[in-house]
Amino acid sequence: MSKRVRVRFAPSPTGGLHLGGVRTVLYNYLFAKKHGGDFLVRIEDTDQSRYVPGAEEYIFDCLKWCGLDPDESVQHGGNYGPYRQSERKSSYRQYAEQLVKDGHAYYAFDTPEELEKMRQDFRTEQNPSPQYDHTIRMKMRNSLTLTADETEKMLRDGKFVTRIKMPAGETVSFMDMIRGEVHFDTSLVDDKVLLKADGMPTYHLAVVVDDHLMQISHAFRGEEWLSSAPVHILLWKYLFGLGNMPQWAHFPLILGPNGKLSKRDGSKYGFPVFAMNWTDPKSGELTEGFKEKGFLPGAFINLLALLGWNDGTEQEIFSKEELIEKFSIERVHSGGAKFDYEKAKWFNHEWIKRWPVRDLSYQVKPLLEENGLWVPDDNLLNKVIELVKDRCTFLPDFIQQSSFFFKSPDSWDLDAVKPNWNPDKRIFFENFATRLAAISTWESVTLENEFKNLAGEKNIKPGELQLPFRIMLVGGKFGPPVFHIAELLGKEETISRIEKAVSLF
Ligand code: GLU
Repeated sequence: MSKRVRVRFAPSPTGGLHLGGVRTVLYNYLFAKKHGGDFLVRIEDTDQSRYVPGAEEYIFDCLKWCGLDPDESVQHGGNYGPYRQSERKSSYRQYAEQLVKDGHAYYAFDTPEELEKMRQDFRTEQNPSPQYDHTIRMKMRNSLTLTADETEKMLRDGKFVTRIKMPAGETVSFMDMIRGEVHFDTSLVDDKVLLKADGMPTYHLAVVVDDHLMQISHAFRGEEWLSSAPVHILLWKYLFGLGNMPQWAHFPLILGPNGKLSKRDGSKYGFPVFAMNWTDPKSGELTEGFKEKGFLPGAFINLLALLGWNDGTEQEIFSKEELIEKFSIERVHSGGAKFDYEKAKWFNHEWIKRWPVRDLSYQVKPLLEENGLWVPDDNLLNKVIELVKDRCTFLPDFIQQSSFFFKSPDSWDLDAVKPNWNPDKRIFFENFATRLAAISTWESVTLENEFKNLAGEKNIKPGELQLPFRIMLVGGKFGPPVFHIAELLGKEETISRIEKAVSLF
């Protein structure tokens, strides 16, 4: 029987969660849901020097906002906990010791000064940054070069790390679900530290041990981890057997305007790179998020899904349910996926247009209220949203596009009206206000007919009157069709805005 599908997202809580991280979550999530499996989040916090307070909660907040909640995690519980590696500290040492015993790892006692000296002494033109590897290990202070007694003594002192003993001249291969067979020459890989002096594992040991203990069936992660794969494959081989190893896939890099997309690109080119606003607790620097920019979560995951994957058709708009149904790892590309902000905006615009008005109103109402606009009745709000949503790319666009429905203008684009304003037009609007007062069916079509009839009677082209009318109702040269605006404003308000503006123009 094949293994139950169990996949994991394994973030280190070191800062904001960028596009690439959320896409890794998404592909894991879709794969798990498609195969009726489990998606878990494991917090990889073994590098205490990089730990950033608040980052863990922030990651879960982002997943919640995206609608990608895990089945198991620190916050969701599960049978394979703890889900925070620092709390699993005691479980790693035995594996490191097993590796030493079997001759696949060794203890190293080199001080930071000695390591620095090694980097200086072995530096050559061909090899400007020498690594602790098979060519150098026998010249360093470790359990391979010291006598058993000396080693014993050093171990008692407790200041040592455990390093993997990378074999020289072997080829390690594995089958990547996206890239096919991948090969590595082990001679080129250094003897990575597995267990640190403080007893904490490094990422390399912890990821393998935990993927085993948590029964991970598929390990999917970003391409930046591909170069670590030979170390992980060998650890699997030495500790648990290659037959038990998860299937691997490394997702393509997300590219910005200049190579790999970076946080800096966001501020440089003015687009968000994190899922949600993130404030660095040390520097206080704020990096804008897609959420706060006004993206809908559905649009965000839709655009991320398409950054490196497609279903083989021209379809671009997918609901989460459709993505679950159609997603396949084999259709993820291996080449870098270019992030195009204009396209991201297009996705959001399409989602806003298609999103049910009632759902939009839950998002828009608080935005309006935060901006001092009082929404007297939800029914009106829904009608307004229906009318203006095609004009909105981001949620906050609703503020500008609809504020005049809830508050009469306090400034008017006079420059647009004044040059062509004349007494005939003034009389037209005075008469129009009187006619409106007598209208019984307050609908845009009736209003438009009334407007056109009166213009005909006065011998003025209706086209010349529409702009002033718009500015009377809205204040500026924007918004949906003007008679629709008047319909929603209602009789009293429309007349009062006309009268007020006429006295000003
Ligand atoms: N802890 C690694 C990270 O921060 C996870 C890599 C993996 O998924 O194996 O991205």
